[in-house]
Amino acid sequence: MRSRYSAAEPMKQDTSFIKSDAVILRTYEYSETSYIVSLLTRARGTLHALAKGARRAKGTFAGEIDLYAEGQAVLIVRPEVSLHLLTEFCCKERHLPLRQSVDRACAAGYAGEVIAAASPEGESQPELYDLLTQTLQGLEAGDVPAVTAFCQVHLLRLGGYMPDLATCTACGKRVTGPHVAYSFMKSGVLCAGCLQPNEPAARVSRSAISLASSLSRGGAAALSRTRVPRALARETISFLGHVISAAFEQEARMLQPTLAALVR
Ligand SMILES: [Zn+2]
Repeated sequence: MRSRYSAAEPMKQDTSFIKSDAVILRTYEYSETSYIVSLLTRARGTLHALAKGARRAKGTFAGEIDLYAEGQAVLIVRPEVSLHLLTEFCCKERHLPLRQSVDRACAAGYAGEVIAAASPEGESQPELYDLLTQTLQGLEAGDVPAVTAFCQVHLLRLGGYMPDLATCTACGKRVTGPHVAYSFMKSGVLCAGCLQPNEPAARVSRSAISLASSLSRGGAAALSRTRVPRALARETISFLGHVISAAFEQEARMLQPTLAALVR
């Protein structure tokens, strides 16, 4: 996927040593002493790196490497190689509550993966990085479904993927009624007159569309005051998840199992 995110900057191939804010999205045991880690970095998007000695209790990393940990990473990035070397990670925020609740952990995992899918290696996308850290912060104590929907809406908004949910994408008329039909083929809503009998479309409630609209206008600070009824949250998260999958094609389709767990 070629990123549509506006802040994207091409990677400078001649720089091999970088220092960047980063969040650890995944850790894989590589050997008895080392991890391979996936990071979302502010400077270079998603990177995968070997952290030698990171599984030892003492040493350079000394327990700093942990899932969802946010801090400053130092990496040696080699052009044309997909596995780089993490030489330092100084943890500033552990986001511990995210590992103490299955729902919060599941939502944090989804947010990390979907933002990483939109943030390929080599592209600096500070707004996406900030969206991830705001989402992780919000998930620590906030309403999990509301924070998840907030993350989805702003991911779509930042990439220019957020559809106009008020007007028919075919004829431009304002769409009314308690439910609207969303066409994934046309990436927009259809009025009753334009919806063809065999057209594959999702039926979305007006309440879900209103929730998505209000979340897209609000900042992260509004999250602490937002509580969403469970059924409405499930519908909104599921709908936005499908819009994201359609926008990102292959990458986000792999996230559907995680999304299904969130809306169970
Ligand atoms: Zn129409």
